[in-house]
Amino acid sequence: MELITILNRCHRFRGFVYQHAHFSADKKSIEVAVRPRRGSAAVCSRCHLPAPGYDQLAERRFEFVPLWGFLVFLLYTMRRVNCRRCGIVAVEEVPWGDGKRTLTKAYMLFLARWARRLSWNETAEAFRTSWDKVFDAVEHVVTFGLEHRVLGQVDAIGVDEIQYAKGHKYLTLVYQIDLDVTRLLWVGRERTIESFRGFFTVIGDELASKIVFVCSDMWEPYLKVIGEKCSEALHILDRFHIVAKMNKALDEIRAGESRRIASEGGVPVLKKSRWLLLKREENLKTEQRFRLHDLLRYNLKTVRAYLLKEAFQQLWDYNSPAWAGKFLDDWCRQVMRSRIEPMKNIARSLRQHRELILNYFRAQKLLSSGVVEGLNNKAKVTMRKSYGSRTFRCLELALYHSLGKLPEPESTHEFF
Ligand SMILES: [Zn+2]
Repeated sequence: MELITILNRCHRFRGFVYQHAHFSADKKSIEVAVRPRRGSAAVCSRCHLPAPGYDQLAERRFEFVPLWGFLVFLLYTMRRVNCRRCGIVAVEEVPWGDGKRTLTKAYMLFLARWARRLSWNETAEAFRTSWDKVFDAVEHVVTFGLEHRVLGQVDAIGVDEIQYAKGHKYLTLVYQIDLDVTRLLWVGRERTIESFRGFFTVIGDELASKIVFVCSDMWEPYLKVIGEKCSEALHILDRFHIVAKMNKALDEIRAGESRRIASEGGVPVLKKSRWLLLKREENLKTEQRFRLHDLLRYNLKTVRAYLLKEAFQQLWDYNSPAWAGKFLDDWCRQVMRSRIEPMKNIARSLRQHRELILNYFRAQKLLSSGVVEGLNNKAKVTMRKSYGSRTFRCLELALYHSLGKLPEPESTHEFF
């Protein structure tokens, strides 16, 4: 069986024929000559309709899916058309390629699918290609996906920020968190009011006005935009964010007190206590639990803060917003008397956003909590896998590619 036969079986296009296949001079790649079928007109790349020929350009090489360790190239002499509809001389459009890209569509889809399973570097290595070509492949597939995705109705969204580089470099991510669809809808630069407004520009006012739930953290720019664009929606402060904030405060208190004890030459009781205090007690091993209980006997600021944090967890057991509200008020009052400044800051912030926190209980039956947290963890894994360049564009593509559930370009054959 000849290579041409296989190609005709899996990668055939009307108006073009495979002429012959041969090895390149160095025997490392296979070159397949392609030519237009006699009498078939070239297609204008601007209006996508057949147009009269004008002239020919130099031969171009399109990289195809490699075969048994050989690189495979399709060689084709592009024609130019004199399109009267467009009133210009334009390069023809070929069905296996995408504009100026050097990879065939089939190969780009092939690489992009692997780039979802492996890191981009591993993909490039496995198929003896470059990181840049993997980037191109993912860009092609994601661009198609975003152009062809159907947003439909969106009931619930979650907005979150993610740090992607040192020095306060953040991305804003918006997820759809409906009960039946969870996917990444949008990636934005920074976490400012302007950037988050960009999401609403993309989805349009009509869709935005129908959103029923919005889940976010206490970041003021997000709160402001949500208030402005989704005024009808029930806005929920996410449990995971509140707990994360409290852990951060506790960690600060512990680090400060530990330094103070050391500088005063005291017994370093807080040494190696970080995870004892941050983990939930039920997740500790027996030995750690003993150490924790030992530590709790000391009259330390850290211990008092820890006990306040643990007491707070009860909040999530309530079903009724009214009882949850009463508990929240009691807890905040207690904290305000504690003279532990970082905890007092938390209490102030919780008081300020009291209604949004209680919305968690108003919506609990309808929103599965932890969805945003889960998606955010996946986003972090994706960012690690796309390593090679930490530019915004690269991360944006990688995130849409693995979390966007985007439609893929059609293919003549399942190469992978
Ligand atoms: Zn045209």
